[in-house]
Amino acid sequence: MAEKRLLRIALAGNPNSGKTSIFNCLTGARQHVGNWPGVTVEKKTGHYSHRGYDVEVVDLPGTYSLTAYSIEERVARSFIVDEHPDVVVNVVDSGNLARNLYLTVQLLELGADVIVDLNMWDELLASGATLDTAKLSVLLGAPVVSTVGQRCEGVEELKDAILRLVENREERHRHVPVSYGGHVDDVVTELVSAVEAAAPALPALPARWIATKLLEGDPEVAGLVKGDDARLARVRETARRAAQHITTATGSDPEKVVSEGRHGFVAGALRETLTEAGVDRMELSRHIDNVFTNRYFGYPIFLLFMWVLFQLTFRVGAYPMQWISTFVNWLCGSVCARLPESVVTDLFVDGIVGGVGSVVVFLPNILILFLGISFLEDSGYMSRAAFLMDRVMHALGLHGKSFIPMLMGFGCSVPAIMATRTLESRRDRILTMLLIPLMSCSARFPVYLLVGGAFFGERAGSVVFAVYLLGIVAAILIGRLFSRTIFRSSPEPFVMELPPYRLPTVKGLSVHMWERAKLYLQKMGGVILVASAVLWFLGAFPRDEAVRARYEVDIATMRSEGTPAALAAAERAEEDLASEEIANSFVGRAGRAIAPVMEPLGFTWEMGVSLMTGFVAKEVIVSTLGVLYHTERGGGGPTDSLAKALRDPANGVTPLAAFGFMMFVLLYTPCVATVAVIRREAGNGWMWFSIGYQLSLAWLVSFGVYQIGRLAGL
Ligand code: GDP
Ligand code: MG
Repeated sequence: MAEKRLLRIALAGNPNSGKTSIFNCLTGARQHVGNWPGVTVEKKTGHYSHRGYDVEVVDLPGTYSLTAYSIEERVARSFIVDEHPDVVVNVVDSGNLARNLYLTVQLLELGADVIVDLNMWDELLASGATLDTAKLSVLLGAPVVSTVGQRCEGVEELKDAILRLVENREERHRHVPVSYGGHVDDVVTELVSAVEAAAPALPALPARWIATKLLEGDPEVAGLVKGDDARLARVRETARRAAQHITTATGSDPEKVVSEGRHGFVAGALRETLTEAGVDRMELSRHIDNVFTNRYFGYPIFLLFMWVLFQLTFRVGAYPMQWISTFVNWLCGSVCARLPESVVTDLFVDGIVGGVGSVVVFLPNILILFLGISFLEDSGYMSRAAFLMDRVMHALGLHGKSFIPMLMGFGCSVPAIMATRTLESRRDRILTMLLIPLMSCSARFPVYLLVGGAFFGERAGSVVFAVYLLGIVAAILIGRLFSRTIFRSSPEPFVMELPPYRLPTVKGLSVHMWERAKLYLQKMGGVILVASAVLWFLGAFPRDEAVRARYEVDIATMRSEGTPAALAAAERAEEDLASEEIANSFVGRAGRAIAPVMEPLGFTWEMGVSLMTGFVAKEVIVSTLGVLYHTERGGGGPTDSLAKALRDPANGVTPLAAFGFMMFVLLYTPCVATVAVIRREAGNGWMWFSIGYQLSLAWLVSFGVYQIGRLAGL
C-alpha cells in the first residue's frame, strides 16, 4: 500500500485567469518548462503529492475557446483529447464569468472530467457580488471550488476535490447538453445518431462533441469523418444537410449558432446563480478605459507612460550602474594587476573583463525597464496600448493582433517572431515578421545607454526615447509601403480583448522581471563571452613582435629616466603601440576595409567594426567598443573610460554622428538568431529580403541624419 498512485491533471483556462498562479501554488518549485512537441508554445509541467497520490500537473496554454484556429487552442485541445488527463482543472476568472465559462462549456462538451476552479474569488467578493457555487455546480454538472491564486487560498480544497473526483468516478458529472434552440437541437440529435452509428470507425470521443464540431466546420474533426466507410459517408451527408437546415432556419451560419448556444447557456446559468452588485470590476475598467483608450487622450497618455519609464530607467538606474562600475574597476585594479604578464592575462583583462564588463553594468537599467514593462503588462495597460495601436496598425495594413508580437519585439525579436504564429494569414505573418526588428529590442538598449550617455548627458533619456519612437515611425512607414506594394490585400478583421485592470503583485512583477533578466545574464555568459574573446583575438593578432620589442625598449628607457616628462612620453608611446597593433590586427584590417562605407555617416572604424560584430548580438556592439577602446587606451575602467573614449574629440565623433549611429543600430539587420528564426518561419527568400531592406534603410537614414544635420549646422 506504500505504492503511490499516479494521476495526471491539466490546467485549462483563459489567458490571465491565474492558471500559472494556481500551477505554482500546486507544484511549488517542482516544475519543468519546455516546449510542446513541434510548436514553440511553452509547456510547463510540475508535480505534487497529496494523500498517497503523486500528481503530475500540466499547465495548458491559455485559450478562450477550443476551436482549431490558433496553435494554443490546438495544443490544449489535443492534449485533452489524446492524452486523457485524469482531471481537467478549469481555472476561471470569477470577475469575468460570462467570458470564462464559455471555455468551461466546451471542456464539458469534450467529455473531460472537469473541476471548475473559481479563481480570483477575492475580486468577486470585493466587487460585492455573490455567487451560488453549489447551484452552479449542479447546473454545469461539475464540481466547483473557489481559490485566490495569488495567495494560494483554497488550493488544499482544490487538491481534495481532484481526489474526490477521481475516487468517485461514478458520481462524476452528468452530461449537461447545451441547447441551441428547437429546430437546431432536432438536427443536432439526428447528427448525433449518425455519429454514434459510425462510432467504430471514429476515435473515442463524445458523439455530441463530434456532431457540434462538424457543424462548426472544424477542419480537424472534418478530417476524422473522411474515408470510404459507408457510415462515415452518412455522417458527412447528415452534417451537410444539418448545416443547410440551420442556415435556412436561423438565417445565420451554424458556427455562429453553436457559439450563441454556448453563450446563451452561460448567460442562463449565471442569471440563476450570480447577483452582481453596483460597479463591478469590468465597469470600473470601462470608466478607466474611457480615458486611456480615448481617441484623443489615449495616445499622449501612452507616450507619457513610456517617457516616464525611460526617465526612470536612466535616472534611477544611474546609481546602481555607478556601483557596479566602481566594483568592476576595483576588482580589476586589485586582481588584474597581480596577474602575470601573458597572453592569457591579456585575454582575460582586455577581452573578457573589458567586453563582458562593459555590458554587465547595464543590468540595473535593464531590470528597471523590464520591471516597468511587467508592471504595464500585469496591470492590463498593455492590452489598452494594443487596442490604441489597433487603429494605427490598420493604417499600416495590419490589425491589433499583430501589435502583440511587435510589442514583444521590444524585448527580443526571436520570441516575437515566433509569436506571429498566432496570426491566421500568411500575409499578416510575414509583414509582421518584417516589421518586428524595427521595434527596438532590449539588446540594443545598452548601445543607446552607452552612446546616449556619452554624448547627450542629461538629455540621454529623451534622446533614447526618441530613438524608440523613430523605430515605431519607421515601422509605420515601411508597413504602409509594403502593404501597398508587396502585400496588397487587406488584413482579417479581429476583436481586441480588454481584460480588467488589476493591481500587479510584487511577486508577479519580480517573477516576470527575473525571467527576462535571466535571459540577459545567460546571453552574457554565452554569446557575449565568446564573442568578446574571439574579438579580442582578432584585435590582438597578427602581432608584429619586432614592432612591439622596439617600443618596449623605448618605453623601458623612458621609464628608467623617471622624470615626469619621460614618464608622460612613455605613456604616449604605450598608447601609440596599442593603436598601431590594433590597426594592424584582423579587426583593424576589416575596419579599414569597410571604412569608406562608414565615413559618409561620420562613424569611426571602431564603430564600423562594432556594427559588424553586432550581427552576433546587439550587446556585442558595446563589448566590441569596450574591447577596442580599452585595448587602445590600455587600462582604466570599462564604462567610464569607454564613454570618455568615445566622446574624445580626437575621434572626431560628433553628437550628430552618434545619433546617426544609434539610428543605424536601431534599423539595421537584427542579430544572427533573429535572421535564423525568420528563415525558419518564412523561408530563405524573406530572410534575404529582411536583411537587405534593413541594411539599406539603416545606411540611408544614418546618411540622411549626418549629412542633412551637418548642412543644418548641427
Ligand atoms: P495566467 O495567464 O492564467 O497564467 O495568469 P497568471 O497566473 O499569470 O495571473 C494573472 C494575474 O492575475 C497576475 O497578476 C496574478 O498575480 C493575478 N492573480 C492570480 N490569481 C489571482 C487571484 O485569485 N486574485 C487576484 N486578485 N489576482 C490574481
Ligand atoms: Mg500563464
